[in-house]
Amino acid sequence: MLPTTLVWFRDDLRIADNPALHHASQQGQVIGVYLMSENQWEAHHVGSRRRSFVRESLRALGERLAALNIPLLSIPTPIFDDAPATLLRVAGPLGARRLAFNEQLPLNERRRDAAVRQALEPNGIAVEVHQAGTLAPVGQILTNDGNPYSVYSAFKRRWLDRAHSAWWTPLPLPDTQAVVKLPQSLRSNVVHEPGAGICGEARAQRLLDDFVKRRAAQYDTQRDMPSADGTSRLSEHLSCGTLSARQCLAAVLQNDDKAVRLMDGRRPGADSWVGELVWRDFYRHIVALIPRIIRGCAFRQDTDSLAWRNNEAELAAWQAGRTGYPLVDAGMRQLERTGWMHNRLRMVTAMFLTKHLLMDWRLGEQHFMSQLVDGDFAANNGGWQWSASTGTDAAPYFRIFNPITQATRFDPQATFIKRFVPELEGLSAKQIHANPSRYAHDYPAPMVDHRMARQRALDAFKRLRG
Ligand SMILES: Cc1cc2nc3c(=O)[nH]c(=O)nc-3n(C[C@H](O)[C@H](O)[C@H](O)COP(=O)(O)OP(=O)(O)OC[C@H]3O[C@@H](n4cnc5c(N)ncnc54)[C@H](O)[C@@H]3O)c2cc1C
Repeated sequence: MLPTTLVWFRDDLRIADNPALHHASQQGQVIGVYLMSENQWEAHHVGSRRRSFVRESLRALGERLAALNIPLLSIPTPIFDDAPATLLRVAGPLGARRLAFNEQLPLNERRRDAAVRQALEPNGIAVEVHQAGTLAPVGQILTNDGNPYSVYSAFKRRWLDRAHSAWWTPLPLPDTQAVVKLPQSLRSNVVHEPGAGICGEARAQRLLDDFVKRRAAQYDTQRDMPSADGTSRLSEHLSCGTLSARQCLAAVLQNDDKAVRLMDGRRPGADSWVGELVWRDFYRHIVALIPRIIRGCAFRQDTDSLAWRNNEAELAAWQAGRTGYPLVDAGMRQLERTGWMHNRLRMVTAMFLTKHLLMDWRLGEQHFMSQLVDGDFAANNGGWQWSASTGTDAAPYFRIFNPITQATRFDPQATFIKRFVPELEGLSAKQIHANPSRYAHDYPAPMVDHRMARQRALDAFKRLRG
């Protein structure tokens, strides 16, 4: 009889280009397992929309695996500490001699995985770890001194030097296997409800194909305009792994007949999009290599003593999209209504909270995590620390976006603002970009004066420097 491998799915809810699944399926029989850690989600501030997206994606994965005769078990495992005992309990009756999974980079996940290895190996179950979360494996993009890069442009240069075909060659699908007879005790754990179709890798692949075919070429000119459908909208899929970054890179290069050299300037749209995948790698490498980031510390340690103002009423107004700055409010309402926010607006709203209101970036980071379907620790933390000028390669503290100038540049006709702030629907763009509360009486006046707030933030940062 062929040996059985338990493949533990985590943030890689796909059968295509899945290293752990691919290698396990070549070695014998495979059974999939997912540990449903609701309490851990709670502790990590994962919101209800993301939880539903993951559950739906899991159902879609169950369907795809079932078509290959690979059962997928979903086992309630409230917290990470329960993972070793749960996996031992599942592996036993299945006679599994191997556990395979793709690595996760944040510290808590790595600690959990180390505990799993410690528990399983003495029981005769080998543990096999694969790299899948980044294009460039962690540890391959280091400075000449062997340190992690703290500046994106230097990271990207080294990344491009090191890039090779394995980064854009997805692994093939696993073969169909013989039907597995599960022990009675595990049958009720099989994921068998069909997925809703809006999640899962088939949907992700369609979105990717559509983006590459229709929009990638204009990405560099459209990506900053919130009213345009200019970005890929793949973040939800990339964050829970219904799509891999390697599939993205493969798709965008294939469209160039594979002849393209990465970032050679011939295709500015595609190059610019690949640059975003490099940002994704950059923040993930930081999280893996600088563990204090996971403990809530700023990358720039001196900024941990900044005198943040933490005012609950102002935080609530920002969260509700009632700041009196239309672009900020439109962004916050987009987040609240859809669970996604355009990147330009993530920067504008994050900078507004941390600079105009001078509030701790961790409050914003947590709020975003609770709302975003694509909530991803590395990208969210990186984005917040960039905006707050506390992080790697962050915006310099004196570069404070003026929310009105941002609106006139990136939403000149106020098309996007009107979509999400209905109180301003009847106003002209000129009125919206001036002081809209004068014309729309149900819209608040600006909660803070830009000049005063800017100076207050500059003073707070200057005090840090002594
Ligand atoms: C304050 C703040 C918080 C953020 N929080 C998250 C988050 O929780 N999850 C998340 O996936 N992204 C986050 N981002 C990054 C970025 O805003 C989103 O990835 C992007 O808006 C998703 O839309 P898209 O898929 O259409 O992106 P595209 O523009 O099509 O980019 C393609 C992919 O590249 C990656 N990417 C793009 N920009 C970045 C970036 N700046 N950093 C890291 N990866 C990037 C994403 O995986 C994205 O899906 C945050 C940015 C900021 C400023």
